[in-house]
Amino acid sequence: MTESIWDHENANCNVGNFKIDRVVDLERLSYPYGSMIPDADPKVLSKLAEEMGSRLITPGTLDLSLSFHSFLIRSHKYTILVDTCCGNGKNRPNRVDWHLRDGPFLNNLSARGVKPEDVDIVMCTHLHADHVGWNTIMDNGDWVPTFPNAQYLFAESEYDFWIKEQKNSSSPILLGSYEDSVLPIMQSGQGKLVDSNYQIETGLNFEPAYGHTPGSIILHVEEGGREAIVCGDVMHHPVQVRYPNWSSAFCEDPILSAKYRWDMLTRFSGTGAIILPAHFLSPFYGPIEKERNGFRTII
Ligand SMILES: [Zn+2]
Repeated sequence: MTESIWDHENANCNVGNFKIDRVVDLERLSYPYGSMIPDADPKVLSKLAEEMGSRLITPGTLDLSLSFHSFLIRSHKYTILVDTCCGNGKNRPNRVDWHLRDGPFLNNLSARGVKPEDVDIVMCTHLHADHVGWNTIMDNGDWVPTFPNAQYLFAESEYDFWIKEQKNSSSPILLGSYEDSVLPIMQSGQGKLVDSNYQIETGLNFEPAYGHTPGSIILHVEEGGREAIVCGDVMHHPVQVRYPNWSSAFCEDPILSAKYRWDMLTRFSGTGAIILPAHFLSPFYGPIEKERNGFRTII
């Protein structure tokens, strides 16, 4: 059996010369399973609650717990932040947990030895509001890039999809996060639209992961015989590793999302590659193995 390379105590791992740290914005929020993964079978969830524990699935109500975090990747060349969570001060009246926050994300980043000016590259796996929030901070009444020296990479197909949605919509798209967390980046000149197979450097490659959104991408980290898959919202909760058919309520194309999830889990099961989704709570970061009708994470 392959062992996980993830260090749960320090919330980090090394993939060859790449160092990966988890940086938390919101540690644990619980949501009714029906609003998050409507396909989930409550009888099956009850069994999974016993197995996975009450931190992940609340006994009785079967609420599912998520975290909101970035992955910080440091190479010899670059300091890279993948997904920027919810942010501070963002107006999200329809998402009470994300609304006008005053959280310690930048302190958590600093605890990893990284100041905003140190970040070279920001990558968003997709443009939902909980993946772009820390792209910007408020400065004298304007939203400005949080990371003044960073190039922000967005997949062109993802960006184009939301631009079209915006043209077809009379109300703000993406809970207003396009206006406050993406548009200011493009206007500053720090945004760059790239291909879904973009390479940051050898061993750091984007790959298309369409389904959750039409332009979702993942970051495949590979060096020295080790691999990590920073996979955004391909999965939201560890129950989807066990039951990959269960897509989230937030997937633009639930069928394509399930297909991609199956493909990704099949491809990496038994390889030792560590799976790093954007919303899994610790300790569910690890390699994948086939089990019965689905998969499981080795922790
Ligand atoms: Zn998300």
